Amino acid sequence: MKKFALIDMDGVLYDSMPYHTLAWQQMMTEIGISTSREEFYLYEGMTGKATIDLIFQRELSRHASDEEASRLYRRKADLFVEMGRKERMRDADRMIHTLMEAGVGRVLVTGSAQNSLISRLNEDYPGAFSEDMRVTALDVKHGKPDPEPYLRGLDKAGVTADEAFVIENAPLGVRAGKNAGIFTIAVTTGPIPREAFEQEGADLIFPSMSAFADALPDLLKQI
Ligand code: MG
Repeated sequence: MKKFALIDMDGVLYDSMPYHTLAWQQMMTEIGISTSREEFYLYEGMTGKATIDLIFQRELSRHASDEEASRLYRRKADLFVEMGRKERMRDADRMIHTLMEAGVGRVLVTGSAQNSLISRLNEDYPGAFSEDMRVTALDVKHGKPDPEPYLRGLDKAGVTADEAFVIENAPLGVRAGKNAGIFTIAVTTGPIPREAFEQEGADLIFPSMSAFADALPDLLKQI
């Protein structure tokens, strides 16, 4: 049995992606840049700066400066917070409970620096993620799809890639897990089609968190 689960946050533990994508689109609208809300689902996992820079290069044919990127990311984060409390992903608590019961360790590995959610983990998932078992955007130089966040997760857990598995909802997150050499499970909790996760080489793909939570007890015996 695998010793550790490396678990993404947005779109896995929280049903927060609809708010993130809306906040991104609203922030871009405020500076006169037209985007589709859907595209931000595909950028999930990238750092805020990388996302802003990608859109600046496409729409303005130039890079975003560090000052612009940090100011605009702060504005996006403020809009996200103003949208109110984000609910836990349905049945994610059941998934976490199964891991805890089975003695599988947990490391949070998020590309987010979104303190409004990270600070609520203790309340929403009691005992699931100790403070030293969290990798956030503040701990890494490179966001997903770079393997760095998941490699840092392995370091924190003190295990090898073979002893862990990744739980992700985003294609770039799946790519990061696979690039780190880790067995990677995709749970499709948003509008991204299954094929996108197949293309990234996900080892298993579940159609919902409920389906994954149902399968997990038996799955832990097999992987
Ligand atoms: Mg996610």
